[in-house]
Amino acid sequence: MALLITDDCINCDVCEPECPNEAIIQGELIYEIKSHRCTECIGHFDNPQCVEVCPVACIVVDPHLKETAEQLLLKYQALVES
Ligand code: SF4
Ligand code: SF4
Repeated sequence: MALLITDDCINCDVCEPECPNEAIIQGELIYEIKSHRCTECIGHFDNPQCVEVCPVACIVVDPHLKETAEQLLLKYQALVES
C-alpha cells in the first residue's frame, strides 16, 4: 500500500528530504504523499523512511490503495526507468 499523511501532521519538514522517490510534497495545509510515487521505500530501503523520521507518527498506510510488495517493486522499477 502507498502511505498517506494524516491531519496530525505538524509541517515539521523532516520527511520530505528523506523520500527516495520524491513522493512527498508540501500540500496546501500539510504535507502530502503522491501515491503514484510511493513504493513504501521498496527498492531503496527496508523500511519506509518517512515513517522512521516523523516525530508525531502521522504517516500511515492508505487502506484504499492496496498494493502487494511485487506491485510496489514494479512501481519502483517504473520510477527508476522514467
Ligand atoms: S514510504 Fe518511502 S517512498 Fe513512500 S513516501 Fe515515505 S519515504 Fe517516500
Ligand atoms: S515528518 Fe510527519 S509531521 Fe513532519 S512534515 Fe512529515 S508528515 Fe508532517
